Amino acid sequence: MNYTTQMNAARNGIITDAMKTVADYEQIDAERIRELVAKGQLAIPANKNHQCLKPYGIGDMLKTKINVNLGTSKDCLDMDVELEKVMEAVKMGAESIMDLSSFGDTQKFRRKLTAECPAVIGTVPIYDAVVYYNKALRDITSDEWIDIVRMHAEDGVDFMTIHCGINRATAERFKKSKRHTNIVSRGGSIIFAWMELTGNENPFFERYDELLEICQQYDVTLSLGDACRPGSIEDAGDVSQIEELVTLGELTTRAWEKDVQVIIEGPGHMPLNQIQANMEIQKTICKGAPFYVLGPLVTDVAPGYDHITAAIGGAIAATYGASFLCYVTPAEHLRLPTVDDVKEGIIASKIAAHAADIAKGIKGARDWDHDMSEARRELDWERQFELAMDGEKARRYRAESTPEREDTCTMCGKMCAVRNINKILRGEDVDIMD
Ligand code: SF4
Repeated sequence: MNYTTQMNAARNGIITDAMKTVADYEQIDAERIRELVAKGQLAIPANKNHQCLKPYGIGDMLKTKINVNLGTSKDCLDMDVELEKVMEAVKMGAESIMDLSSFGDTQKFRRKLTAECPAVIGTVPIYDAVVYYNKALRDITSDEWIDIVRMHAEDGVDFMTIHCGINRATAERFKKSKRHTNIVSRGGSIIFAWMELTGNENPFFERYDELLEICQQYDVTLSLGDACRPGSIEDAGDVSQIEELVTLGELTTRAWEKDVQVIIEGPGHMPLNQIQANMEIQKTICKGAPFYVLGPLVTDVAPGYDHITAAIGGAIAATYGASFLCYVTPAEHLRLPTVDDVKEGIIASKIAAHAADIAKGIKGARDWDHDMSEARRELDWERQFELAMDGEKARRYRAESTPEREDTCTMCGKMCAVRNINKILRGEDVDIMD
């Protein structure tokens, strides 16, 4: 291999196998993909040690990708069950899985994932450090924080969320600005607490160059975490969020100088009317780096339905610049998601991604809708189930309510507009009342 990272290859005029795979999938010329990777506007997370990876590109000119968070926890410790959920998520169309394991032998599960799962794998090493070292937060050393990143890189993780943007200066600003919902990022809260407890600078900020060397060695894409993402619509676009974003912009430039690929994490909770501006500000400050949004949830008042509040925000965000959506399940803010919650979250996220792809004019996006509406016009139920985002649910719903006539459904019966217009246009009679 005569290159270090995908970005390094791209800048040296090399079209890698991963770039060719992305080009085929997106139906875009491979040379164009190379150019975008070279500029940092497209990231292809592809750790050299993740041998079974099917690489995907993340960039706003490509199909919007979705991420599913899974992993073992104290309540769900069975690795086989968790791996089954992972594979199910991949089957349902998740391009990326973030392993947020927070209990048990996390390394074993991580290695199992990078050995068997073709999806792009991401982690948050900060969570894992707390589990792995199994000691008081204040006693974790700066070296240990860095070592855990190296361990994840060696294990084949394609991208890592690291909260480098919350340094002592940002933390001071956050304390002064008195936010409505403080810090709601799990990783951000851990590193903020560590800084407060020890009086030290954030090791990921202070030793950023070492971090970049690790990423360069294994070709890990840095997902620059947003510790100050708004946890309520009241905090959206506030001083803490924007100050951290400015730092992330500076860190992006430093990463690109070392040919390390970057994606930027974003909100959070955000009212609909602020999303477009927020995407544009991010694009400007971070020089077009791909944006990875956690929602955004457009209202705070719908626990139990936050897959919907997030999908509304995700569709708007992806239309105006985000390229990667982190799914949100109905269990958000309430409990660990079940398998059904995971499924609901994936579908909601895929709807948001696809809606944005239509709006952005992504190649081929509308074809799917064209085919579905054709099947509807023809009242071809089998074809509709085949094309449906969740064919199993569509089939079940129809089966649950049998119409009088096969060529209608129980919504309008013989008043079926589709059937009747087809008949009239064929020159046939229409039998509504008999
Ligand atoms: S019966 Fe009504 S809802 Fe059902 S397919 Fe026909 S027009 Fe559509």
